[in-house]
Amino acid sequence: MLDENKVPLIQVEDMKKYYPVKGGIITHTTGHVKAVDGVSFSIMRGETLGLVGESGCGKSTIGRQLVGLETPTEGRIYYNGCELEEIRKNKKEMERIRTKLQMVFQDPYSSLNPRKHIYEILAQPMLYHHISEKSTVEQDIIKILDMVGLPRTVLGRYPHEFSGGQRQRIGIAKALSLNPEFIVCDEPVSALDVSIQAQILNLLKDLQKELGLTLLFVGHGLGAVNYVSDKIAVMYLGRIVEYGEAKEIFNHPKHPYTRALLEAVPVPDPKEKKRGRKLLQGEIGSSMNPPEGCRFHPRCPYASERCETEAPVLKGSVHMTACPVVLSGTEVASHG
Ligand code: SF4
Repeated sequence: MLDENKVPLIQVEDMKKYYPVKGGIITHTTGHVKAVDGVSFSIMRGETLGLVGESGCGKSTIGRQLVGLETPTEGRIYYNGCELEEIRKNKKEMERIRTKLQMVFQDPYSSLNPRKHIYEILAQPMLYHHISEKSTVEQDIIKILDMVGLPRTVLGRYPHEFSGGQRQRIGIAKALSLNPEFIVCDEPVSALDVSIQAQILNLLKDLQKELGLTLLFVGHGLGAVNYVSDKIAVMYLGRIVEYGEAKEIFNHPKHPYTRALLEAVPVPDPKEKKRGRKLLQGEIGSSMNPPEGCRFHPRCPYASERCETEAPVLKGSVHMTACPVVLSGTEVASHG
């Protein structure tokens, strides 16, 4: 029998996700977008892992593989010690597991059927998956709405009648309605007004604690990710470049890319602002033709010739970094 406290709820081994690119007169594969290119990590039960990086780094792609919306090109995903690909062979079992793996989307509007009112949106999957009985489903939904801070009067209304923040609360209620164990929160506050962002982040934190949920929180700002996460993985062009306890990564970042992300976190203190901030120059490269060696080298102020040919691997026991230069303490800024 598996000890649930020792086995990670989610474990990813060397995950790769390549999307074929079609072209030519007779349509054929001309290349691949390597959205995720050899990523491994685990998330213990009740833990929140923050996945952070710029748009196009592959973080949302990982989220979709973890909830079974897509299958990886290579690598393995384990849910509670069982390989997802094996579970997939048993349709009934996969259907059951799918309810345990839920997703909160960046744009909740796209995941809510505009023609159905909130009662239908929440009740139908609960009844289909036998989470509730017909006689009790309304009461069960009211309890969930209460958890996400919405009144029962929303039941007869349609998604377009709500503000962005309220819609995201409905999106969270939808994920919770199937009694999940693991939720991927895919940039859940990126599309919201700043004043609403903190409310949703606090709600997610409270729910995680109250229900003992395990979360993957995907975001592009290190500030928000640090606020909700126990551990953080920093991604750059399909690979993890730094991984460790959230506080440690936020307060003592090692990788030059993580340091640059931290420089981009807004600082309210004007004195701090005056010191001048080294913001990251250039754009994230192409996942179709990622740079050789360290993928960050075209933008890295410490890049040397070695960085153009040698692909660094994650090293360290608790705080892991994929940069031999900073690990040896020999970084010397070559430009910028
Ligand atoms: Fe920069 Fe080289 Fe380290 Fe990559 S390996 S982050 S290019 S110093």
